[in-house]
Amino acid sequence: MNVRRGDTVLVLAGKDRGKRGTVDRVEKTKRGFGVVIPGINMAKRHQRARSRTQSAGIIDLPVPIHVSNVQVVCPRCNQPTRIAHGKLEGEHGRRTRLCKRCGEQIEVTTK
Ligand SMILES: [Zn+2]
Repeated sequence: MNVRRGDTVLVLAGKDRGKRGTVDRVEKTKRGFGVVIPGINMAKRHQRARSRTQSAGIIDLPVPIHVSNVQVVCPRCNQPTRIAHGKLEGEHGRRTRLCKRCGEQIEVTTK
């Protein structure tokens, strides 16, 4: 998994191809991992009223895009890039991610 929450990614496929967005969520789907990006791959969902505060109607929801259809944008060179794996970091042993173009470590600020 090269894509993490908080990454800026470029969409490579689908109707939003060429757009950029920030990953809000990474989800496991039937076809592997998908990323949810606000404003990207929006779909209309028909929704019933479940409470007085939630009205029935058609709402727009972002649908997960398969990770293979996005590419991480390097924060330093501002270009979509492939990811190289660096050294292990921290006690959990996550690998650092490096930009294949400029070698910069790709940091993610997740709260
Ligand atoms: Zn770079």
